[in-house]
Amino acid sequence: EVLHEQNEMPFYKKQLRIALRNCGFIDPENIYEYIAVDGYQALGKVLTEMTPEKVIEEIKRSGLRGRGGGGFPTGVKWEMTRKSKSNQKYVICNADEGDPGAFMDRSILEGDPHSVLEAMAICGYCIGADKGYIYIRAEYPLAIQRLRIAINQAYEFGLLGKNILGTGFNFDIDLKYGAGAFICGEETALINSIEGGRGEPTVKPPFPAQKGLWKQPTNINNVETFANICPILLKGADWFSSIGTEKSKGTKVFALAGKVNNVGLVEVPMGLTLREIIYELGGGIKGDKKFKAVQTGGPSGGCIPAQNLDTPIDYDTLTQIGSMMGSGGMIVMDEDDCMVNIAKFYLEFSCEESCGRCTACRVGNTRMLEILNEITEGKGTMEHLDELKELGQIIKDSSLCGLGQTSPNPVLSTMNFFWDEYVAHVKDKNCPAGVCTAL
Ligand code: SF4
Repeated sequence: EVLHEQNEMPFYKKQLRIALRNCGFIDPENIYEYIAVDGYQALGKVLTEMTPEKVIEEIKRSGLRGRGGGGFPTGVKWEMTRKSKSNQKYVICNADEGDPGAFMDRSILEGDPHSVLEAMAICGYCIGADKGYIYIRAEYPLAIQRLRIAINQAYEFGLLGKNILGTGFNFDIDLKYGAGAFICGEETALINSIEGGRGEPTVKPPFPAQKGLWKQPTNINNVETFANICPILLKGADWFSSIGTEKSKGTKVFALAGKVNNVGLVEVPMGLTLREIIYELGGGIKGDKKFKAVQTGGPSGGCIPAQNLDTPIDYDTLTQIGSMMGSGGMIVMDEDDCMVNIAKFYLEFSCEESCGRCTACRVGNTRMLEILNEITEGKGTMEHLDELKELGQIIKDSSLCGLGQTSPNPVLSTMNFFWDEYVAHVKDKNCPAGVCTAL
């Protein structure tokens, strides 16, 4: 009854919880509660009834794409790692969530840790790996504590370790802690970090599926991606692919934040519009102020203006309008926000988190930030605006990894959609939102 009532509330009405299915409903520290909601059934089914090829085929048919931001088809990734020849392979769960305001992965690990362990074991069976690592931020103490408890319980119940469920399949999982560097969410940097090296990206190819951890084939998926695996295998690829849009299947978890009345995690079918999320789930803009923009994709994404509020959310449409899905950050801005200042905030983040390896990313972003500082202090010129555009394109074209390649997006997208605000700062020495008081 309580659940029914809750589902009728605007915040929940259009949500569909697959990755978050157990969060808040089971005691994450009690394996019996996970088993009571079909926990470890998918692993049992896979080990006793399905070949690795058949499981991979099912994941491919489901259309599941990586939820960490890249959107690469998960089944194809598993297949590539399976086909790489080696006696030793690895599974890595990327739990190095770092977007400002994002906490999707933390919530899954805190609320349903067994679902990730189970999916990692299934992945190990499919690709031929007997060892998995969860690379998790050390700033997530509760998630770490619950993962430790869950791992111990899974070993006790014969669901991890040697001869799982008497099938002869072995799989171990260890935790590795990240020190909070955003760049370590990039898969090659993450691998370097686990190996004890600097968290710096390396050139791809070779891809981790070919040469990853300790130069062995390695499959890396993020937490939310793994959280989708068991329902797909229990309910079928057809069920999963019936949800979402043509090229983006299933649901996506977003951390809805900023100037909306209802903030928090939402899991919605792909294809819902931004307007539905902000005005129905989010309950509209706080204090009945005017909506100005929404940032998806964190520091890698772009600001989406009111004219695109009816865009159905999926990987491709968000890219088409100059933003990206990213890992699920969604920050809403109203009429009181200055878009030049917002762009500066995200660029500051990218400058701080750049590993410094590429000149374009290291020096280019620093110069862009200097220009934005000048603009918000009343020293900007129209030539500065040209320089911003030119530098942004150079950084996108010549950076090695995703952080650099996407770091100019917040600046370029705000210049594209809110050009008048930039011009007002430069020509009129005026901040229309009244935020840049140094003008
Ligand atoms: Fe490092 Fe930036 Fe180059 Fe990525 S693009 S490797 S973060 S310097």
